[in-house]
Amino acid sequence: MMARETAPARWMDNAEWVDLVPAASQIDIRVGAVARLARCGGSSRWSEAIALAVAEARGLLDPRVRIAAVASDVSEALISKDSPVHAIAAGKSGWIYVATIGNALELRVSEHMRASRYLEAVLLDAAGSQAVESLADIAQAACGRAPANARFAPGYCGWRLGAQPALLRALSAEDLGVRVLPSNAMEPLKTTTGIVVAGVPESLRVGAAFCETCTAPGCARRIH
Ligand code: SF4
Repeated sequence: MMARETAPARWMDNAEWVDLVPAASQIDIRVGAVARLARCGGSSRWSEAIALAVAEARGLLDPRVRIAAVASDVSEALISKDSPVHAIAAGKSGWIYVATIGNALELRVSEHMRASRYLEAVLLDAAGSQAVESLADIAQAACGRAPANARFAPGYCGWRLGAQPALLRALSAEDLGVRVLPSNAMEPLKTTTGIVVAGVPESLRVGAAFCETCTAPGCARRIH
């Protein structure tokens, strides 16, 4: 267990956070990505339904992003040593972030489900996931890029989900209406948190050997 129980006050002292409130029109909800997430790619028969889901999603977004610069020892304290992200973050500049689209979209997904509109529910949920990914891209772009940066999130690359409470505390994410449940799931559901690390590109990669044994579902960065 990492030393997160004693560290939050210090993280808060060190953190200078920046809040970003992108317009819904700035959120890139790619039709192809929604189709892939909903497992209905490759067929034009779903095109109209996907377009409707993306349009509906745009009207339900309440995007919020918070980023905070952290010293490398803080990054290392947040990331367990058995994750390669720990070594990647060691000695480097880092930013922690939280990004959320709010809960209106997931409430609408529930409405579709209750009304047995399952296709609409699945596609809207996928559009929400893609919107959160786009928001995380916005958070990453707002962090320093000298000479490059990489984004990592709990649940991937061996970084345990148990880091989420400490990340959210350090970011005072309750201000944004974000909280973490005992299961480590977040509310709103369409929320992501993690760290952006700056460095030379070759120092920001997880090794292929770790990727080969990783079971993280749906990772687009898988090396092997
Ligand atoms: S497959 Fe590789 S890049 Fe993807 S989460 Fe696992 S270790 Fe990270």
